[in-house]
Amino acid sequence: MYVVCDEHLDKAIDEFVEVYESPPDLYRLGEVSFTQWTAPQHCDFCARLPLFLIV
Ligand SMILES: [Zn+2]
Repeated sequence: MYVVCDEHLDKAIDEFVEVYESPPDLYRLGEVSFTQWTAPQHCDFCARLPLFLIV
């Protein structure tokens, strides 16, 4: 699972496909809510606010 900003969206998708060998599901943070899960405060690759969840 990756939580990324718009800048690192492509990078995260590339890594996901490499690791899991299947295309990820993409969600825009704010449109989904999970119980027992709070969105991280920063992107997995930088310190910016994350916009996308890739699972
Ligand atoms: Zn980023």
